[in-house]
Amino acid sequence: MLTDILAIAAHRDDVEQTCGGTLLAMHARGWSTGILDLTQGESGTRGTAEERRAEAEAAARILNVTHREALDLPDGNVENTQPNRLKIAAVLRRLRPRVVILPYWQGRHPDHYTTATLGYEACFASGLAKLDIPGAPHRPYKILYASLYADVRPSFVVDITPHIEQRLQSLLAYRSQYANQPTGGGLFVPENDIRERTFSTARHYGLLAGVRYAEPFVQKEVGLIEDLMLLPVQSI
Ligand SMILES: [Zn+2]
Repeated sequence: MLTDILAIAAHRDDVEQTCGGTLLAMHARGWSTGILDLTQGESGTRGTAEERRAEAEAAARILNVTHREALDLPDGNVENTQPNRLKIAAVLRRLRPRVVILPYWQGRHPDHYTTATLGYEACFASGLAKLDIPGAPHRPYKILYASLYADVRPSFVVDITPHIEQRLQSLLAYRSQYANQPTGGGLFVPENDIRERTFSTARHYGLLAGVRYAEPFVQKEVGLIEDLMLLPVQSI
């Protein structure tokens, strides 16, 4: 199975929090989308890896992705090693995405910012002909960083206005994480705050570009424009 756009994240539910609306928007445009979670969630404060697997599958259906899988990197100890790069590269060669979405390279959780570098280097390795893994070499054309939780100005945002409710539902599919419960009460956002948090963050990024709800991304490359008359986002 091939995917046009593949989102890679450290933990199940990371994609739902940072770029789920974009995956919905791209699916609506006819592209096939996928999610690669690097860990299985065995170290989480709430829920078991098995519960999170079922929840991730439910969320994947809500996000309309054609493919989702999880590797077996240790939850809470994602490291940028050659064996881990090869595991990701093998998936890249199988799914052959043109666009890869990674977490932003700075953040609070080491698994998140490590995944940014690990994912980038796996994209590079996947294109090497003499790599000792199956599949024809493949290097994604475009690498984007989902920056919703980063204190950084996005390169661009994606309008997710028609998909904001479905994006929220994909997050709420993680019942073990977000349903109200005593375990981890001081760590987790109460369920009734998740809607407000999801909508207000998306509204903030939407306001930057003159749309209602949006998700932010950083790209390392400069933008390229052919026609100034078609530039979006009003200046004054
Ligand atoms: Zn995470």
